[in-house]
Amino acid sequence: MHSNASTPDHQCPTPRRGSAVEHITVGDPSVLRHRRSGTLVHVVQRLQRSRRKGARLPAHTVVVSRPTKWGNPHSLDLGRVEAVRRYRDDLLAGRLDITVAHVRNELRGRDLACYCPLDEPCHADVLIEVANGQPSAGVV
Ligand SMILES: [Zn+2]
Repeated sequence: MHSNASTPDHQCPTPRRGSAVEHITVGDPSVLRHRRSGTLVHVVQRLQRSRRKGARLPAHTVVVSRPTKWGNPHSLDLGRVEAVRRYRDDLLAGRLDITVAHVRNELRGRDLACYCPLDEPCHADVLIEVANGQPSAGVV
């Protein structure tokens, strides 16, 4: 019996940039090659949108800021940590317009972009984690 389903101690994952992969030059800095297998791996990352007019994002990037369906409905007035925590809880509990299945199907392997500074918590971290995590990981 789990009376408390939330995981407040969860830390957002850091990009895995271990020794098993190395950069190759294919014009995309996020495409890496597995050193042993030679397999090309796209390393998912979070990008910061620019508010500059005409600013471009890489083609495979999905914008998840508001007002897209992926946006965080919780106000940053709560504080970033709390707003992101609530987003995570709501997503896993099925209280958002989008579900874990949507996230997995549509965002897996994609880079996500939001306006948040990269060194601040962002709901995009939750989306990246859920989209690319193990099928049962973190879902209650
Ligand atoms: Zn954000």
